[in-house]
Amino acid sequence: MDKTNFNHSIKCSVTKCSNHAEGGDYCALSQIKVGTHEMNPKDIKCTDCESFVTR
Ligand code: SF4
Repeated sequence: MDKTNFNHSIKCSVTKCSNHAEGGDYCALSQIKVGTHEMNPKDIKCTDCESFVTR
């Protein structure tokens, strides 16, 4: 995965993710999957980036 690929369609500030672009607040993946860990999501904090990979 090319960490210099700034996907300007996916802004992200999770710098602890292995897929985060180096040197900018973007994801380096071409696409991500967003999901939820809640039965009935009602707020931003109910959603998760399921493409997250720990460093
Ligand atoms: S995979 Fe998700 S958490 Fe990781 S950098 Fe991309 S958008 Fe952010």
